[in-house]
Amino acid sequence: MDPNSLFDNTETAFRLKSDSELERAYFLFKMISKEPLVKIGSAVTKFALNINLPVEGLIRSTVFDHFCGGVNERDCLTTVDKLYDVGVYSVLDYSVEGKEEDVQFDATADKVTELIKFAKNKTAMPFSVFKPTGFGRFRIWQQITEKHPLTEAEKLEWKKIEARYERVAKEAHDANIRLLIDSEESWMQDAADTLCEQMMEKYNKERPIVFNTLQCYRWDRFEYLKNLHRRAKEKGFKLGFKIVRGAYMEKENDRAAEKGYKSPICESKQATDTNFNEIMKYILDNLNDIELFIGTHNEASTYLAMELMAQKNISKKEDGIWFGQLFGMSDHITFNLGAEGYNVAKYIPFGPVKDVMPYLIRRAEENTSVAGQTSRELTLLKKEKERRRL
Ligand SMILES: Cc1cc2nc3c(=O)[nH]c(=O)nc-3n(C[C@H](O)[C@H](O)[C@H](O)COP(=O)(O)OP(=O)(O)OC[C@H]3O[C@@H](n4cnc5c(N)ncnc54)[C@H](O)[C@@H]3O)c2cc1C
Repeated sequence: MDPNSLFDNTETAFRLKSDSELERAYFLFKMISKEPLVKIGSAVTKFALNINLPVEGLIRSTVFDHFCGGVNERDCLTTVDKLYDVGVYSVLDYSVEGKEEDVQFDATADKVTELIKFAKNKTAMPFSVFKPTGFGRFRIWQQITEKHPLTEAEKLEWKKIEARYERVAKEAHDANIRLLIDSEESWMQDAADTLCEQMMEKYNKERPIVFNTLQCYRWDRFEYLKNLHRRAKEKGFKLGFKIVRGAYMEKENDRAAEKGYKSPICESKQATDTNFNEIMKYILDNLNDIELFIGTHNEASTYLAMELMAQKNISKKEDGIWFGQLFGMSDHITFNLGAEGYNVAKYIPFGPVKDVMPYLIRRAEENTSVAGQTSRELTLLKKEKERRRL
């Protein structure tokens, strides 16, 4: 078989989808391919939820059930087991966003801790994950990144954020579960990087437990990686990175233009792709020091990773290399990689419908704005519908 046609196999890609689920997915991608519909739909949904209109049922039966595992972790377990049966691992992602209160941040840290404990006895869940702004207010991260002095109350708030990081990183270390930390907007990310590096230095002595995320649409990330690699070697700790292209491009470019600074985003899609692939190659050349989680729906980068692994005689099951896609997207990559024996995982978001709306809106917008992504999903779903009809 041509190694570059692996992802064309729609039978494997959609093997867990019933005919009606296939139809629903097709209908959904058709809807979100229409930009005005997504814009209006997002605004109307936010408004309806804010004034408590009973729209949750509608959201659940459409976007939510397609992109999320459920409202709580128990809902996700059937999915986790089904995926594991076909060689795909799960990363349960408590995707509650936009919170402002300490009690809510504590609740998120509690949830992540519980999931780590649970994952310890569940081979199907080798990772845990959280977002910096799930543990503290965006504004605090931003103030530290921008080197604005904190008030006494804010200093206390920051101490609590550090304590949440410490708590989950220690739990992950003791349970031997790798902990992925997502990356967000560049104007808060320096503070998140610094705190993550402290956790890496403390908990990645024997092996990578704490993973940061490199958003390769940022042109400064390769230098950042090389510098941190040098420091980690000097200080004697390992690194783990999830590499992604990055989900906040429009926001980043708009803010840079508005405030008059150079955009942190690569000058073109091609430049982002090159940066992603170069960073991936660098890590594959340094697997003794760095583990890699390749978070992408991009076929070319995934084929490239497979090719590089083959060239270097790296086993498909090498524990330091993982592929990952988001639940509800790019099943043709995930399930075909799983069937071929690669380490591959789905990020499965869950949480109350209202709280995961920012995540769902990002997915809808991404599928509208990313050229080719939706049409590729539609083409594959159509191909599978036809195959089943025959
Ligand atoms: C498992 C997983 C975890 C993720 N975690 C995070 C995370 O922690 N933080 C985060 O920000 N995102 C995260 N993402 C989302 C990710 O960053 C991308 O938005 C998404 O995966 C689309 O990129 P792609 O690599 O799949 O490929 P493609 O569809 O090939 O690339 C699309 C991406 O390319 C970049 N791009 C597009 N046009 C241009 C342009 N003109 N100039 C420069 N760059 C351009 C943008 O980043 C865009 O999202 C995650 C994705 C996955 C699969």
